[in-house]
Amino acid sequence: MARRGGQKRAFVEIDGAAGEGGGQVLRSSLALSLITGAPVRIKNIRARRSKPGLLRQHLTAVRAATEIGDATVTGDELRSSALEFTPKEIRHGEYRFAVGTAGSSTLVFQTVLWPLALTPGRSRVVFEGGTHNPKAPPFEFIARAFLPLIERMGVRVRASIERHGFYPAGGGRFVVEFEGGVSWQPLHLRERGELKQVRAEALWANLPKGVADRELLALRDGLGLTRAALRSREVKSVGPGNAVLVEVESERCTEVFADFGARGRPAEEVAEAAMKEARAYLDADVPVAEHLADQLLLPMALAGAGSFRTVTPSLHTTTNIEVIGRFLDVDIRVTNETREDGPARYLVRVGDDEL
Ligand code: ATP
Repeated sequence: MARRGGQKRAFVEIDGAAGEGGGQVLRSSLALSLITGAPVRIKNIRARRSKPGLLRQHLTAVRAATEIGDATVTGDELRSSALEFTPKEIRHGEYRFAVGTAGSSTLVFQTVLWPLALTPGRSRVVFEGGTHNPKAPPFEFIARAFLPLIERMGVRVRASIERHGFYPAGGGRFVVEFEGGVSWQPLHLRERGELKQVRAEALWANLPKGVADRELLALRDGLGLTRAALRSREVKSVGPGNAVLVEVESERCTEVFADFGARGRPAEEVAEAAMKEARAYLDADVPVAEHLADQLLLPMALAGAGSFRTVTPSLHTTTNIEVIGRFLDVDIRVTNETREDGPARYLVRVGDDEL
């Protein structure tokens, strides 16, 4: 991996409109710039979104990356569509990054995770903002699905939530402690092994408990769960909020599927949306579902090796492969293994792994 040297390096040029064209292009670019020391110039930031440019969540990610990397930055303003980012040294330590709206703080976490995890020394970081947002990883996905896998790769981080943050009030807060420095263990997640348990949880804050009760009833019937596999949990939050989580624990990994309550949306519909994803996963017989797939690419690329089987790669996944390829010299290959009339099944291999 290239590290910062004495002389000026050329900017890595990233087109934020390419592929998925959303915030992940920005976050992956910032993380990889910090890790490799390569300055990055990004144009057309989030060009494929209805409100393009840097929103609060993305601006917080830029500010966080700037702070931990002692970086020089231009274009770090709300709605900015272009950015130049030149990092210096990554500094471990104590940080607090607050989105200031209900924008996803777990995505801000994913921007600084790799640079801080790789840098020797302890860091403790407080993240504030949304922790349970549609189209972003909810905290429980991070804690129960994502972190256990990256811990198996040699990354030492611990996360705990103090307050849930739901849209639109936000105000969530979680803390991550990093024991910086990684000795990479390649992860090969090709089969999920025996199915151990399916659990469902309904989270609720400042709402009638009946919403969670109805969701759990729908989850029990829809997934054939026993009472012991259901949990209703009232959580602390500044505003009202509700989330449904379906956790599928298998021998080799755990996946978490989520959906979120919203004003006027029936509880049964929220439960059904989470169940639909969980059922598709159970039918697919692969260990890694859509969201985990795009999020495992970066650590595997940093480790230089790894592999997993997954569902049809999303545009997030293919775009992340492109972005990683702009910074790291690592081969990522995707093979379609879907059998006739069978569910989609793809093998993703990172590095020169020929297992
Ligand atoms: P925008 O799309 O507005 O630019 P963004 O910056 O919030 O949005 P994206 O680029 O869309 O983000 O990336 C969203 C990330 O959140 C992806 O890594 C995706 O896999 C992940 N994600 C979305 N929904 C879930 C979910 N239910 N569970 C886990 N991860 C999720």
